[in-house]
Amino acid sequence: MNAEIIAIGHELLMGETVDTNTSFLAQELSRAGIPVRWAGIVGDDISDLNYAISQAGDRADVIVTTGGLGPTSDDLTREAVAGVLLEEMKVDSGLLEWLEGVFVSRGMPMPRTNIKQAMLIPSAETVPNPQGTAPGWWVRKNDTHIILLPGPPRELKRMWTETVGPELALMSGVGSVVTRTLKTVGISEGGIDEMLHGLFGLQNPYLGIYAHQDGIHLRMIARAPEEDEAQVLIQPMESEIRSIIGEAIWGVDDETPGNRARELLSASGATLGVIEGISGGVLASQLTQPNAHSNSFKGSLIASANGIVEVPGGGTFDANDMTGGPAALEMANRARTLFNSDYGLCVSARDESGYYIAIASSEVQHVSQIQATYARAVTMQRSATTALVQLVSILKR
Ligand code: ATP
Ligand code: MG
Repeated sequence: MNAEIIAIGHELLMGETVDTNTSFLAQELSRAGIPVRWAGIVGDDISDLNYAISQAGDRADVIVTTGGLGPTSDDLTREAVAGVLLEEMKVDSGLLEWLEGVFVSRGMPMPRTNIKQAMLIPSAETVPNPQGTAPGWWVRKNDTHIILLPGPPRELKRMWTETVGPELALMSGVGSVVTRTLKTVGISEGGIDEMLHGLFGLQNPYLGIYAHQDGIHLRMIARAPEEDEAQVLIQPMESEIRSIIGEAIWGVDDETPGNRARELLSASGATLGVIEGISGGVLASQLTQPNAHSNSFKGSLIASANGIVEVPGGGTFDANDMTGGPAALEMANRARTLFNSDYGLCVSARDESGYYIAIASSEVQHVSQIQATYARAVTMQRSATTALVQLVSILKR
């Protein structure tokens, strides 16, 4: 079985709304044992919708749509499905009663336009929507399932979790899907691809490779009737990956560079002081996420917009002098002194050749040069993440 997702709405095509529903549905469908092979975005246009739905019907076993179930005349998803299947939409008396009840409980009269939200076609069943006025449809016809869900993410997620997801998992016969992500730094995507050559292309467990801001992620997905059986499928693959590129792995699953750095610092009883140029405080914020109970992060000095850093207890320095590798390293050492910490870290200001990350301790004097090819806001994030990943790989040694 395979699935297709169709996200519907003009505002998605205009780039005004970010299509987060597709990414949610893609993850959930794969978890339910039905891999997604196609996904697309279509505007609120009846002929485009007809085309997209009939094309999906030719190739997918399960089609999930999101959006276009509202009461207004530009909400056309029901009409399109009815049109493609040549079925007539009729008001369902049970649904109408429920819908009128929703409006009564909100203390509002029901506008006539909402009646279309109480309509069904003969091959559709209702998917209850406990949070809105748009019930979903579950259409079963010619061995194809067409599932219509509303656009608002909160409504869609609840309907998925309570109704659609469990039913699809039952249908696909998948008991459990287990995933594990290994996060790496220092080897390129191509390099990893070459080193792990024999592991790609397998079906179960499946290995995917993805480039992220914090390095290359390797994601293993295994399916089995029971969760522990799926775990057992993943283990040998994980061991093999670790035996080949173990040095490059800095974290797993939900671990972030910030929480990993904090953990490693606390574990070794070490402290860290930071001076930030281009990262503008983002690094400090990554080290001070909620639930960070450790005293290992002593603080960060952040350059102001004009590049001047005021040092507590007197003195200033100019972040524009922080460019270049030796200057960055000097600043990392200065951070150690300022914060009286074991480790000092500096993300330098930016110059024509990019920026520098320096990490200093009594044993380490590390500098790396990073090319900055992105907009300032992206570089702020990237430089902080990269610096923390480098810190993690130093602390791991
Ligand atoms: P409504 O009854 O609210 O009109 P609907 O099913 O017609 O529901 P849309 O009108 O398409 O849904 O979208 C309603 C809102 O839901 C949008 O304004 C947008 O904020 C959000 N939304 C729609 N589609 C998506 C999507 N693919 N990803 C994330 N958010 C979305
Ligand atoms: Mg709408």
